[in-house]
Amino acid sequence: MPTGIEKSFVRKTHHTGHDVVLPVATITGAKDGPTFAVMSGMHAGEYAGILASQRFIQTVKPQELSGRLIVIPIVSMKSFLMRYMQLSVVDEREVHFHVPGNPQGSYTEFLVDTLWQVIKGANYVIDMHAGEFAQALYAWIPIPMTGSPQVNKRSKSLALGYRVEYIEERASRKSVPQLAAMMSDLGIANIWAEVGKNGLPAKEHVDIQYDGAYAAIQTAGMLPGTPARPKQKLLTGRRYQINAETTGVWNCAVKEGDVVEKGQFLGRLTDFFGDTIKEYHAPEKSLVLYYWSSPAINTDRRPHGYDWHNSLISLITIG
Ligand SMILES: [Zn+2]
Repeated sequence: MPTGIEKSFVRKTHHTGHDVVLPVATITGAKDGPTFAVMSGMHAGEYAGILASQRFIQTVKPQELSGRLIVIPIVSMKSFLMRYMQLSVVDEREVHFHVPGNPQGSYTEFLVDTLWQVIKGANYVIDMHAGEFAQALYAWIPIPMTGSPQVNKRSKSLALGYRVEYIEERASRKSVPQLAAMMSDLGIANIWAEVGKNGLPAKEHVDIQYDGAYAAIQTAGMLPGTPARPKQKLLTGRRYQINAETTGVWNCAVKEGDVVEKGQFLGRLTDFFGDTIKEYHAPEKSLVLYYWSSPAINTDRRPHGYDWHNSLISLITIG
């Protein structure tokens, strides 16, 4: 491809008649180098990443770039346009937990397969995430550590430029989103960056997404300059999530980023009158990664088994 920026849409129609529309910007550098893909908007209300992706398209100069940068600012376009949260607006599946290879399957499988055709040649992938409208999230960078030692090391190197307090090595395969694990298996260094909260495109979070990914692209040797290396702490604990067993109203007593002691009160689920159904306490000393800031808890709403509407709080054990 000649040096420059090409912006286009990949458009495909699923057998149900629903379209996939992927905006794709490809920046081809003046010098040879690897291929790096940056994507966002897989979960359509996670806006900080979407705005950071746009900033890459608007600012990266082909003459400074070695290799090819592919930017997909909005993966789940239909959900984005409907202001739909987390799950696909078409089939209510969780895009992050599907892999390509079955385009004849559900709409979400078709979407992931279409996305894969765009990014499969990449050496590096950054997938930008955040907290949805209903989630207060403490910015951190999870790293899939399920690949070979070489791939894991390259994936980790992508996380080291983010201005976040914590990065997390995620070694348990069942806790790594399937698409991230598959990329690691195939030798594609990748991370998913969790920066932003409550569906708010705060400048602070857009900057962290952009600057962190920029440092990662520098780390790959594709942009000039020495990548930033802010002070970070490493999380290696056990991830766990507390889910409600009863429909009700959630009153969270802690904040994202809090370190809670074993036995500490986390919050209360009440009925619609405010009478307590259950109180929750931390089983171990943990960091609060995010909690559902929406009080509305519905245990009956479990599309495809997902616990999106009955989750209360997500934590990781900490030493
Ligand atoms: Zn997400």
